[in-house]
Amino acid sequence: MGTTFDFSPPDKPTSIGTHTYKDQASKEVHAFLKGPVLEYSKKRNFDFGYSENRHVSKLSKYVSHRIVSEYDLIRNALCKHEYHKVEKFIQEIFWRIYWKGWLEMRPEVWTDFIDLPTSDNSINFEAALKGNTGVKCFDSWVRELRETNYLHNHARMWFASIWIFTLELPWQLGARFFLEHLADGDAASNTLSWRWVAGLQTKGKRYKASSHNIETYTKGRFKEILVNENPKLELEYKNYPITRKIPAANEKKQHENLLIFENDLNFNGREELYNSYKNIFVATLPNDARHIKLSSSIIEYKKDLVAQFCEFFPNSTILSSGLESTISSINKFDIVYPFVGENLTFLDQLKSRTSIEYSYLFRHEDHISMQYCQKGFFQFKKNIPKILESLLC
Ligand SMILES: Cc1cc2nc3c(=O)[nH]c(=O)nc-3n(C[C@H](O)[C@H](O)[C@H](O)COP(=O)(O)OP(=O)(O)OC[C@H]3O[C@@H](n4cnc5c(N)ncnc54)[C@H](O)[C@@H]3O)c2cc1C
Repeated sequence: MGTTFDFSPPDKPTSIGTHTYKDQASKEVHAFLKGPVLEYSKKRNFDFGYSENRHVSKLSKYVSHRIVSEYDLIRNALCKHEYHKVEKFIQEIFWRIYWKGWLEMRPEVWTDFIDLPTSDNSINFEAALKGNTGVKCFDSWVRELRETNYLHNHARMWFASIWIFTLELPWQLGARFFLEHLADGDAASNTLSWRWVAGLQTKGKRYKASSHNIETYTKGRFKEILVNENPKLELEYKNYPITRKIPAANEKKQHENLLIFENDLNFNGREELYNSYKNIFVATLPNDARHIKLSSSIIEYKKDLVAQFCEFFPNSTILSSGLESTISSINKFDIVYPFVGENLTFLDQLKSRTSIEYSYLFRHEDHISMQYCQKGFFQFKKNIPKILESLLC
C-alpha cells in the first residue's frame, strides 16, 4: 500500500491571505495523521468541547468541498499507517461515501425533504433556534454550532435526538438548521443522519440520547440532563426504492466550457484537463437560488473557497449572482457532477426552463465505491477491502 499523494498546491502565489485553504487543509491532514489518528478509535466518541477535541480530525469542512477528497484522505492515512491502526477512521470516511451513494440512487429523499415547511410556530422551535430550551447541553451546542460552524459527531447525534424526541420538533427543521450553520453541511450526510436518528433510515431503529451517555462522553461537562429516554413518538415511515443509477465514470472533455460547483473543488489529477477548457465557471449558489438558506458566515466561506480555486486557473471565472442568465447564455457545458443536493436541484430546474446542454465529469473512484450503496452500510462495509484495492493501485 504505497503511493504517496500530494495535497500541495502548484507553486503559484496567491493574493488571498497568507495561505490558501488548500495549504491549510494539507497541514491539518498531515498533523492529524501524524499522531491523533492513532487514538481515534479509542477516543472518537468523546466530546470534550470544541477547542479540546483534538482526537477527531475536524477536516469535514474541507472534505465536504473536496478541498481534500475522501479518497486522498484514505490513501494518505494508509501511506502513513497500517490498515488495522486506522481502520475506524477510514470506515467513518466511508460512511460519508456510503451516504452519498445511497442518496444518489434515491433522490426523492432529498426532494421530499426540501419540499417540506421551513418553520414551525411552536414555542419549542423558537427556543431551540435561540438555544433557550433549558436543556443545558442542547443550548450549549446551539451556541457552539452558531459560533464555530461545527459540532462533534456525538453531539450531532444527541442534538438531533433531543430535537426530535424531547422537544418533539420535526426532524426536517433540525436538518435545515444544521445545513444553515455547518461549514461541512452536506445533503447526503446531513439528511440521512437525521433520518437515521429519527428511526426512518433503518426502520424501527432510532437513536435515543440518554443522560448517562451524555455525561460519560462529555466527561461530566453535562450532568443530569432531562432528556426523553423512552419516546413514544411514532414518525411516519416511507419506503424509498432505488429509482436511479450511479452515473457512469467519465473524465472526457466534450465541450469548451466547464462548470464547477463549490462542493467539488478538487483538481488533483485533473489539472491538465481543467487547463484545457476555454472557460471554467466556478459557482456557489446565492441564497435566493437555494431551498435552504445558509448563514452569512457559510456563504462567505464558500465564496472564499471558490475565489481561491480561481487563483489556480487563469481560465476561470467566479459565478455567483446572475448565475442563471450566464449559464443559459453560454448554453453548452461539461459539468463536474455535483451529486444530489442543492446544486443538482438547481441544474435540474434550470434544464426544465432552458435549452442548456451538458455532460457530466464523474470520478472513477466515486463510481467504483458508490455501486455498493444499494443496501445497508453493513453490506457496503463488506466491500471496503475491494474498494480499497482499486483505490490503491
Ligand atoms: C445529525 C447529523 C448530521 C450530520 N451532518 C453532517 C453534514 O452535514 N456534513 C458532514 O460532512 N457530516 C455530517 N454528519 C456526520 C459527522 O458528524 C461529521 O462528518 C463529523 O462529525 C465531522 O467531523 P470531523 O471532520 O471531525 O470527523 P472525523 O471523526 O474526524 O471523521 C473524518 C471524516 O470522516 C467523515 N465522517 C465521520 N463521521 C461520519 C459520519 N457519521 N457520517 C458521514 N461521514 C462521516 C467526515 O468526512 C469526516 O471529516 C452528521 C452526523 C449527524 C449525526
